[in-house]
Amino acid sequence: MLDKLEQITISCMKCGNCKSVCPTFRELGDEGISPRGRVRLIRGIASGEVELSARYKELVGTCLNCRACADECPSGIEPNAAVLQARQHMVLEKGLPAVKRAIFRGAMRGRRLFPASSKLLGLLQRASMIGKPGNPLRKAFPWVGLPQDKNIPYFALKSVLDRFPEVMPVENRKFRVAYFVGCGANLISPEIGNAVVGLLNHYGVEVVIPHKQMCCGTPIFNSGDFEGAAYFARRNISAFGRLDVDAIITACGSCGLSLKHEWKDLLGLDVPDNIANKVVDISEFLVDWLGITELGAPGDKPYSVTYHDPCHLARGMGVRTQPRKLLTSAAGGGYTEMKEADWCCGGAGAYSVYYPDMSRRIGNTKAENAAASGADVVATGCPVCIIQLREMLERAGSAQKVSHTACLLWDAVHGKPAGG
Ligand code: SF4
Ligand code: SF4
Repeated sequence: MLDKLEQITISCMKCGNCKSVCPTFRELGDEGISPRGRVRLIRGIASGEVELSARYKELVGTCLNCRACADECPSGIEPNAAVLQARQHMVLEKGLPAVKRAIFRGAMRGRRLFPASSKLLGLLQRASMIGKPGNPLRKAFPWVGLPQDKNIPYFALKSVLDRFPEVMPVENRKFRVAYFVGCGANLISPEIGNAVVGLLNHYGVEVVIPHKQMCCGTPIFNSGDFEGAAYFARRNISAFGRLDVDAIITACGSCGLSLKHEWKDLLGLDVPDNIANKVVDISEFLVDWLGITELGAPGDKPYSVTYHDPCHLARGMGVRTQPRKLLTSAAGGGYTEMKEADWCCGGAGAYSVYYPDMSRRIGNTKAENAAASGADVVATGCPVCIIQLREMLERAGSAQKVSHTACLLWDAVHGKPAGG
């Protein structure tokens, strides 16, 4: 493992190019929290000059895995990937914290129990009205390291997997695809699943949703538990690997990137071409496969829209133009590009739970840019970005709506206004 850490960091020539695009470095201006600083620290671990201290853990932990630094590096270093390997090294040396172990190795593995627990949590959230500001139960948030005013999204009472049968045939079928739903849409924002399935069926695409699918593993390997993440990847490979489909559709950049690259490149798994080569984001599928660029107008209520690029969708899967093209048509009131649209929003999986201060600093900058665009609606292609953008815009006092691209497109097909 130490050899590997050395090998993936050795060609750093300390030029510092990567620092100019790193959101954490921009917030604090501290070398240790820059990609170059992190690479140097990881090399120090490999050579034995640096210890696995709490400071090291924090500097490696606060990386968002936004991948911006990798695009800037003339030596081909991927500081984000080095960080993930360094986290794995920490887990191998020190083990997983007890709470993460209980969640990753216990709760999340229950294919029926996990969604049932999430539904129960959703019921409790609604019954206790914990979402209301000033609710006394919020006084307990700081006990688990969360700010008292943290927005916690409500878990859905009916998941996407519970809403749809495994196969949804259509007449005059153009394609047959599988849909990898992902935890964010399945358990928190099932309206994304409704929109994805609705759009695909509407345009003549048969949809298969294997009910044995599980989490893609991103939150698990992001915490350094590669072995735990591989458990989920293998089960998904067995659920999707033998399907006779033209494509596997995702509506979350992180899920898509896992299936397409990370199960193989990061976890070292043997991923069949039938999966890795078939992963397509929903907006990419609509434009590049179905040739759709025009959607119905949003009734008599056109709105203006801007778009936030999820890191893993833009830099990981290379999807940038298709959502913009579709949204311009769907909104009817004009598209405005926001400043720094592809800078991370600070959501980054569970980052806002582990590092709420840094997450808010980065999120505030994103909210300022979104608000300055003047658009009525902020669209994006990742359920976690939606949660983060909603919280940050609400905190900034902005009235902008935030929605998944697929939801806005589905509304447009019905001639509805955004979120109508
Ligand atoms: S992945 Fe993002 S947060 Fe992490 S070091 Fe690179 S630019 Fe900074
Ligand atoms: S851009 Fe690459 S070579 Fe330059 S400091 Fe960053 S990681 Fe090292």
